[in-house]
Amino acid sequence: MNNWYLHDGLVYRNYKLRQEDILVINGKIAAFGDKAKAGFLERSASITAFNASGYVICRGFLDLHVHLREPGFAEKETIATGTKAAAAGGFTAVCAMPNTNPSLDSPDKLIDFKPRLRKDARVKVIPIAAITKGRAGAELTDFDALIGSGITLFSDDGDPVPTSLLRQAMEKLANSGGVLINHLEEKSLVKPGLFADAIPPQSEYLMLERDLEMAAKTGCRYHAAHLSCAESVELIAAAKRSGLPVTAEVTPHHLTLTINDIGEPQGDFQMKPPLRTEADRSALIEGLRRGVIDAVATDHAPHGREKEQRIGLDSPFGVTGLETAFPALYSNLVLTGMLELEQLLQALTFGPGRVVNQDCDLIPGGAADLVVIDLARQKTVERGHFYSKGTNSPFVGRRLQGWPVLTLVDGEERFNANRAEH
Ligand SMILES: [Zn+2]
Repeated sequence: MNNWYLHDGLVYRNYKLRQEDILVINGKIAAFGDKAKAGFLERSASITAFNASGYVICRGFLDLHVHLREPGFAEKETIATGTKAAAAGGFTAVCAMPNTNPSLDSPDKLIDFKPRLRKDARVKVIPIAAITKGRAGAELTDFDALIGSGITLFSDDGDPVPTSLLRQAMEKLANSGGVLINHLEEKSLVKPGLFADAIPPQSEYLMLERDLEMAAKTGCRYHAAHLSCAESVELIAAAKRSGLPVTAEVTPHHLTLTINDIGEPQGDFQMKPPLRTEADRSALIEGLRRGVIDAVATDHAPHGREKEQRIGLDSPFGVTGLETAFPALYSNLVLTGMLELEQLLQALTFGPGRVVNQDCDLIPGGAADLVVIDLARQKTVERGHFYSKGTNSPFVGRRLQGWPVLTLVDGEERFNANRAEH
C-alpha cells in the first residue's frame, strides 16, 4: 500500500514548518492541506491514514557519507542491513562509499552493483565511484565512462587523494562535471594512535588548504568530507566567499562530542577524524548555523562484531551512525538551543541535496520519500538494538530524544516504530 494520508503533523517544506496534512497517492505526494483531506475523504478505503499529531513530517533524510561494505565485507555490513539501519534513522537515500572489494571503479562494477541494490536496498542508494583504480592511489578511473553510467560523486574515502594525482583528477572532473569528495588526512602528520593526539587537526586542514587551492585553479566541484576542526571551517568559509564551487559536511559525533567524552570501551569513540576540542565543536556548530557547512553526513562506518572485540591500535576506525543521527543531534543541539529545528532538518535534506543536485523539497507530484519524527519520544541507545551489523557507537548508553517513527520511500513503508523489532 503506497497511498497515505498523514494528518495533523507539523510539515517541513520550503524551509519552513507548518501544520498541514499530506496525501500520498501511488508513491507520490498528491496534495497538502485541505486538498489532501478532501482527496482522502473521496477514496479513504484505499488509503492508510496516519495520525501525525505531535509529530514532525519531513522529506526523508539524505546521507552523503555511508559505508555499506558490500561487496566484499558482508561480515561488517550489507546493503540489506545498512539500508535497514538507514530507514530506521529516517534516511530515504544514502550515498555509498566505494571502499569495498572490489571497489566501484568502472562501469562494469556498477553493472554488478545495481542488481544487488534492486534486490536488497530498503532506501535509495547513490553509488560513489572511486577516484583511482582499486583505490590504490596510482591511476585515475575513467571519469567520463562512469559519469556516462550515471555517477556524479567520486571519492577514495578512507584514503586521501595523492598530491601527485590531485591536479589531473580535478582538471578532468571539472571538464566532466563530477564532484570530488576527499578524505582529509595527511598521513605524514599522523602518528600511531587512536585519538586526536595521534591524528592532529593539521593533518586535516593542511590537506584541505591544498585541495581548495587546486579547486580554485581547476574549477572542480569539491566536497570536503567529515570536517572536524575549527581551521577547516574557516577555510571553507573563505573558499565560499571567493565563489569556489565548494561544499562540506560534518558528522553527528563531531557536532555533539569532544575528546572529553571519550569513555570505555574506547572503540565506541574511535573514528577518523577523531573527536577534538570544545572549541572545534563550537566552530563546527557555528559553521552549520551560518551555512558554511552544508550538510550533516553520518560517516556510518560499521565493522560488524569484529571491532567490539578489538579495541587497540590494530582496531579498525569507524562507528555506526545512521540510526542515532537525528536523536543525537536533536537532543544535543536543538533541545539545548544551539540549533533551530529547521536548521537541523535543512542540513539533513536541502543541504546534502545541493551536493547531489537534488531538490529535496516536498512538492505535489514529487516522490513520497518521507520521515515522520516523534520529537517527544525518548529511548536509550542499546548496543544490542542496532539494525546495522556495526554496534560501536559513542551514543551507546545515552538516553536520546526525537526518534523517527515512520519512514516511507516512494510511499512504501520502510520503517515503522510500531512494527519495529525492538
Ligand atoms: Zn573518510
